[in-house]
Amino acid sequence: MSKPRVATVWLDGCSGCHMSLIDMDERLLDIFERADLVYGPLVDIKEFPENVDVCLVEGAVSSEEDLHKIRKVRERTKVLIAFGDCAVTSNVPGMRNPIGVAPLMDRAYRENVTLNPQVPTQWIPALLPTSEPINRVVPVDIFLPGCPPHADLIYTLLDDLLSGRTPAVAGARFGR
Ligand code: SF4
Repeated sequence: MSKPRVATVWLDGCSGCHMSLIDMDERLLDIFERADLVYGPLVDIKEFPENVDVCLVEGAVSSEEDLHKIRKVRERTKVLIAFGDCAVTSNVPGMRNPIGVAPLMDRAYRENVTLNPQVPTQWIPALLPTSEPINRVVPVDIFLPGCPPHADLIYTLLDDLLSGRTPAVAGARFGR
């Protein structure tokens, strides 16, 4: 019998949630003996695959690229987990929302730059007007808050899901 297919995705976050995932230490072996890791920053696979059973999504939806990716992830995933506070509330990326995109880009690329200040017009994904939590864009099945969520919580959640139990992680919220 094939193993459940697990993916992780990194949108607009600092990678701290993925660091906490790695902090599961030897329990990573337990999880990935029972599941296949089919996509994420920890594996070298370029295209988000079809038929993913569980996907942990770190970060807010901040750019056109994030938007395109989260829609594809939703289409191809059974259980989508908003992984950490940036995914759940927009958290740190959302701090730029009251500023507006144009003043933000000016500050980053003109005011704070001494050499050849200019706002880039190519190669970087266009920012959305605001940075949004995932559930404002697509339905989310499980919310796992924390900045980052503790490794014990991540393990308990994945262990429950892979064992066929209803997840009982304190602080997690379920349902679309
Ligand atoms: Fe980083 Fe915290 Fe956001 Fe996770 S929730 S990506 S640790 S800022």
